[in-house]
Amino acid sequence: MRWNDMRESGNVEDRRNEIGGGGPASGGLFALLLNMLGFKRVALIVVAVIGVGLLLGKSPVDMLRMLGLVGPAGQRPAAYEQGPRGAADNEQHREMVARILGDTEDSWGRIFQQNGKTYAQPSLVLFRDQVRSGCGGASSAVGPFYCPADSKVYLDLGFFDELHKRFGASGDFAQAYVIAHEVGHHVQNLLGTSAKVHERQQRVSKAQANALSVQLELQADCYAGVWGHSAQQRGLLEAGDLDEALNAAHAIGDDTLQTKAGGAVVPDSFTHGSSAERKRWFKRGFESGDPAQCNTFQS
Ligand SMILES: [Zn+2]
Repeated sequence: MRWNDMRESGNVEDRRNEIGGGGPASGGLFALLLNMLGFKRVALIVVAVIGVGLLLGKSPVDMLRMLGLVGPAGQRPAAYEQGPRGAADNEQHREMVARILGDTEDSWGRIFQQNGKTYAQPSLVLFRDQVRSGCGGASSAVGPFYCPADSKVYLDLGFFDELHKRFGASGDFAQAYVIAHEVGHHVQNLLGTSAKVHERQQRVSKAQANALSVQLELQADCYAGVWGHSAQQRGLLEAGDLDEALNAAHAIGDDTLQTKAGGAVVPDSFTHGSSAERKRWFKRGFESGDPAQCNTFQS
């Protein structure tokens, strides 16, 4: 995929170094102390340490370094900057995500306009390990998700390592598919589909409610395909890209996940749809480029 030719979105919120939002991988000891003790107490401690240092004939910086509040000369505090992060959590991936998001904004912007609507762009929050969202706190373990309450997509770049290592799905278009799927949930939010479905889910059996969730997920896959169609039309896809996306759709299909987890495949507990269904709906969007073809609710 020629993502370098895509427009970079300005809607990426990088919270990877945020304290609390990003877990221990952020802020450093000094920020942590500030958070726990408050500014006044920390200032008092620092002043006391420097005072003792002067009495002992050590430089203030040396004293702070001994306490671990300042890193080796010329470096920022040991703020876990690199930490035990996977290979995917890097600048190149941040940029790629921002460009794919920018491209979905342009594509959906046009589609909405053609239908006399205005596309409100979602934000995409990059985080590490843990994050606070408008839908509550979440850990990376849940995978990328969309929160309708704040209209934001949440993504830990480490998921791309998972996608590759655990699910065997690699390639930039596989990653783009994941983002486009979450953006698909945003489109459902804007169109009022998700609200309608959630309302209906209150009135039906658990199995029926689950079936509705699957239909919602498959529609997001179809919408991801609609974006893929638009990218292809503009010559941004390369040979093999479609296979990458279909492979990812297959790898993260619920039946595949359940088999990998060692359990029996139980159709009623599906929330994302089977591999075959996910592929089918992605393809449907990809081939038609028409969101009207994504009516997964009438089968
Ligand atoms: Zn989804």
